[in-house]
Amino acid sequence: MFRATFKRAILRTGLVLLLIAGCMIPILFLNSNSAARITDLSGNPGWSFHAGDLPLDAVQNPTSISSDWIPLRDAGKRLEGAGYYWLKIDVPTEAYRDPHFFIHDLRHYQAFWNGKLLLESNFEPRNPRMLEYYEWNLVSFSFGYPAEPLLLRVYSDDGVIKTGTVQVGNAADFIVRILRNDSDKLLFGVIFTLLSIVAALFYFHTRKKLYSYFSLLGFCAAYASFCRTFALGLFVHAPTLVYFHELMLPLGSFAFNGFFNHLYGTTTRFHRTVRYCMLAFTALCFFVGIWNNQAYHALLFNVFPLLFFMLIFSSSRIQSRIFRDQPSTESAIIIFGYIVSNVSTFLTSLLLLFPNLRDYWIRHLPWLAPYIRDDQLPVFTGLFVFLCCMGSIILLREKEVHLQVHSYSRELEEKNRKLEEIDKLKDEFLANTSHELRTPLNGIIGITESLLEGVAGPLNELARSNLSMVVSSGKRLSGLINDILDFSKLKHAGVTLFIQGVDLKRTTDSVVNVLQPLAHLKDIGLLSRIDERLPLVAADENRVQQILYNLVGNALKFTERGQVEITAHLDDEWIYVSVSDTGIGIPTGRLNAIFEPFEQGEGSAAREYEGAGLGLAITKKLVEMHGGAMGVISTPGHGSTFTFTLPVAEDDLQDRSALEERPERETTG
Ligand code: ADP
Repeated sequence: MFRATFKRAILRTGLVLLLIAGCMIPILFLNSNSAARITDLSGNPGWSFHAGDLPLDAVQNPTSISSDWIPLRDAGKRLEGAGYYWLKIDVPTEAYRDPHFFIHDLRHYQAFWNGKLLLESNFEPRNPRMLEYYEWNLVSFSFGYPAEPLLLRVYSDDGVIKTGTVQVGNAADFIVRILRNDSDKLLFGVIFTLLSIVAALFYFHTRKKLYSYFSLLGFCAAYASFCRTFALGLFVHAPTLVYFHELMLPLGSFAFNGFFNHLYGTTTRFHRTVRYCMLAFTALCFFVGIWNNQAYHALLFNVFPLLFFMLIFSSSRIQSRIFRDQPSTESAIIIFGYIVSNVSTFLTSLLLLFPNLRDYWIRHLPWLAPYIRDDQLPVFTGLFVFLCCMGSIILLREKEVHLQVHSYSRELEEKNRKLEEIDKLKDEFLANTSHELRTPLNGIIGITESLLEGVAGPLNELARSNLSMVVSSGKRLSGLINDILDFSKLKHAGVTLFIQGVDLKRTTDSVVNVLQPLAHLKDIGLLSRIDERLPLVAADENRVQQILYNLVGNALKFTERGQVEITAHLDDEWIYVSVSDTGIGIPTGRLNAIFEPFEQGEGSAAREYEGAGLGLAITKKLVEMHGGAMGVISTPGHGSTFTFTLPVAEDDLQDRSALEERPERETTG
């Protein structure tokens, strides 16, 4: 069983990995697609620049105001403050099947082409919470001869002069490139979302904080992945959501470190403080972000790296301590994942802090280019590696758990076998001892009774009363011993039934006759209301008597006033026999338990009445041996009704419909 479960776990993991690999193949294919025919105008030396705004009719004839334009490269990097500037560039006359401009990375602008407004993006009114890379536009135009220039009217709220990304090409080529750019982020987004949901489910199931941190981490990674895709803009227009996605860096760091602490259950006060500072910092950035865009970014770029380094510093100390104290494959894998994810987050932070670094690296380290083409790609990749490490650890732990469960189940089996042996020994001992006790006990009772009858001469009152007590105690003891013997025999299938046609009325009457004196003594009515025309039951007469003695005996024992009544009716091929009383009843919660051996009703009631708690267990077993069933209904304080069924003897099935209508005859013993 163990091997099969383990194999299944391995197979499942293999399938998941295959699925992931399967998803990766088209992405690799997309990524290896040859470069599309797209002309990038962004770095083109032909850009002209005009500081400040221009009257709009200038777009009709931009050449008429050419004297105001200077080459962009002479314009410097910044305006004196926030304000307008214009840009102009000649569009190449190369013919495209479906010519489009792709404009991206400018926050507030209008584009004019051929004297007309081509498109406008976040221009008036201006939404300060729209990030420049959120808005991208793909807009169609037609070539004219002579070539028309593209005019951009830009508003810069931070004074930076830039062209953004301006490209010309076929629409289809742009779409393919967008998909290629988005593919890995979309895939990461889906994986992170799934992981986050699974971890959240685990958290709700186990309430372990570890999973809540893991889920939060997955959520941060998924949120940031989706926000960095171009595709998002196709489905929703939510610039504010994207504006806040940078908060996922501090929030994710908080979750990441929280997860680690809970995985190992160890942390330092410094590390915990920095972790919560990171959380507080996230909240602070959020509120500042609502208030002012520039302050929000200043805070993120200047304070986050500081906190991040403090976290890395403090957690590396914890890591090295863990590795030193528990040098195992697991901790080696964790530390590997931890280092990769931290280095990649560090790389992302550097790319965010120093935008020129990417170009510099791409120039000097071209092999790094695919990895840093987007500043957040390193952090996603790092997180992905980290999650893979977590996956392998879970596999390792699962294997360990399986091994443990296997050894526990073997141990348990062995203990069970021993317990069964001991149980059998105990029953044998009990049965043998009871058997040995029964003979001398019967002798004691017999001799005492003959003494009471006067075989050894007349007795005085004290001697008679003492001898009577010996007889009654001896009888109680004998009843108990018989119960124990019966129970032991029933348990080990040592009872054989002698089935024959039994007249229920006659059997009941004989039981009622024997118990009537007891009922008189307690001043309780004892009635048998059994119709003599009921068919015979297929049963062992002695055992039916035993059943009735137990039930009626209990009814008399637990009833102080009122009456005990025995009734029976026929239903299909079964006779239902009920013993009802008006006694103390049974608490609802104990109705099932009383049929278990050595179980009694409520402690206080059971203590007041004698008995060992075996009677009902024996009775039920006897009824079941006859093929019948047994049950009880009871109202505490008002009484109980025990009902059992016995099969009608096959050769005695009579006409029952007539029988049910005839009045019942009452018998009292
Ligand atoms: P014993 O009577 O020896 O304790 P039984 O197995 O016959 O053991 O009964 C188990 C328990 O069920 C009793 O201790 C009592 O609490 C409860 N019980 C059985 N019959 C009745 C009844 N007619 N009325 C109330 N309680 C009953």
